[in-house]
Amino acid sequence: MTEKMLKFVDLKLETPNKRDVNRRLDDFKEIYDEFINEKAKEQSSRCSQCGVPFCQVHCPLHNNIPDWLKLTAENRLKEANELAHSTNNMPEVCGRICPQDRLCEGNCVIEQSGHGTVTIGSVEKYITDTAWEKGWIKPINITKEINQSVGIIGAGPAGLAAAEELRKLGYKVTVYDRYDRPGGLLIYGIPNFKLEKFVVERRTNLLKESGIKFFQNTEIGSDKSFQDIKEKHDAILIATGVYKPREVNLPGNNLNNIFPAMEFLTASNRKGMGDECEKFDNGLLNAENKNIVVIGGGDTAMDCVRTAVRQNAKSVKCLYRRDRNNMPGSTREVYNAEEEGVEFIWQSNPKKFIGIGKIYSILVEKMKLGEPDSSGRKKPEPIKDSDFEIKVDIAIKALGFDPENIPHLFKYPTLQVSKWGTIKINLKSMETNVEGVFAAGDIVRGASLVVWAIRDGRESAISIDKYLKFKQLKKTEAA
Ligand SMILES: Cc1cc2nc3c(=O)[nH]c(=O)nc-3n(C[C@H](O)[C@H](O)[C@H](O)COP(=O)(O)OP(=O)(O)OC[C@H]3O[C@@H](n4cnc5c(N)ncnc54)[C@H](O)[C@@H]3O)c2cc1C
Ligand code: SF4
Repeated sequence: MTEKMLKFVDLKLETPNKRDVNRRLDDFKEIYDEFINEKAKEQSSRCSQCGVPFCQVHCPLHNNIPDWLKLTAENRLKEANELAHSTNNMPEVCGRICPQDRLCEGNCVIEQSGHGTVTIGSVEKYITDTAWEKGWIKPINITKEINQSVGIIGAGPAGLAAAEELRKLGYKVTVYDRYDRPGGLLIYGIPNFKLEKFVVERRTNLLKESGIKFFQNTEIGSDKSFQDIKEKHDAILIATGVYKPREVNLPGNNLNNIFPAMEFLTASNRKGMGDECEKFDNGLLNAENKNIVVIGGGDTAMDCVRTAVRQNAKSVKCLYRRDRNNMPGSTREVYNAEEEGVEFIWQSNPKKFIGIGKIYSILVEKMKLGEPDSSGRKKPEPIKDSDFEIKVDIAIKALGFDPENIPHLFKYPTLQVSKWGTIKINLKSMETNVEGVFAAGDIVRGASLVVWAIRDGRESAISIDKYLKFKQLKKTEAA
């Protein structure tokens, strides 16, 4: 698109009398129509504006989907972008990686009537990617900084969303994170082919340009004490995610070449960002030409199998105890993996890792589905004398994550946690049992989704703001 045409499109979107000018400019649509993403426009036009926005209700952020679809259909992308950002801190991230089939798109009225959903996620991505390209997304420019500060532990989506919202309100914000880059699982968990890392980096750079301070390579509990940062800031948000991998304690568990999912995915993501990674470079964590077996049926397992395919593995198999209909992972992900050549061995359970020094096979037993258990899901039961062996060069354990022991790590034993180890909060205020300490994201919910982490981050910022205003008021009254 030429400079002149870009200006023309901008004029249509920027002018204060948009409606009048739009009407006039509609006559000239043909000048730039070929330059807009026809697919996004076509999809947006498919929204029936049904008036019962189940899509919006089922989006955890309650994004105003029908309105930004309408604006996109009318080529009013700048307004669509503003609307998308009014409820979401990272629309281009959610557009890429939300399990839309379980959220907005799965509840689209057109989908329900059997005509195929409006591809809401891809339009959300298109709107925001365009906004980045055109320079519409700018750092926060606060007029007056408030003399109160918030310390945020964890630079994942929950911590980042809270940081942005608090900075917009004028607070001094400092984020502490134990990784070398901000982004949490957006950087080191979710693979590059689902979420390109530059997309995360341009967001975190924007936050740095907005005056938010980041301390990377700083683990609270070891590099800095929790007590110290608690004293330094007026409020604290704990948004540390969940990182303790669930184990399968089988005979042979200590053999070499059996890895937890995060180790495999982190190595792959680091290589994708150009880092040196010894275990990948010496072949240990590289799936190329190897037989890979992934144990588990969730989204992390799907990320592992699909990463192994992209590393040119010789074969990729996925072992799961239940059947396809009872998989916890997104059906779309399973479909994608199958299409890419992953073999799913349904209703199968590993019994033993076999090898000398390093693993060379897994003994597996076949399962059948019995009566529902306490969770309501059918309980897998072993089938007698059904054992078989699978050849393997690398086994990856992807059975989910639990919280680390935060009170112990933070040397703050009075911080209350649930029986699962997640941090207990007051559901209305998101405050923990420690005054001025709030918590958000996976560390409260258990392993969840990015969109829920963003919502928690936004809600915790509202509560922290209320808390700090009240604190300031009390201080002023006392003075
Ligand atoms: C492999 C994988 C794939 C996924 N794919 C998807 C997907 O496709 N779509 C989706 O919606 N969700 C997905 N998820 C889930 C999603 O990534 C999480 O729900 C989300 O990132 C949680 O955000 P959070 O901010 O709570 O925590 P995190 O993103 O985990 O961030 C927590 C941050 O806290 C830091 N931290 C932890 N402890 C400390 C400490 N003591 N001191 C300092 N810093 C600390 C960590 O370094 C990290 O940066 C996936 C998860 C995994 C593991
Ligand atoms: S944030 Fe997720 S659930 Fe909400 S509209 Fe976007 S893709 Fe759908």
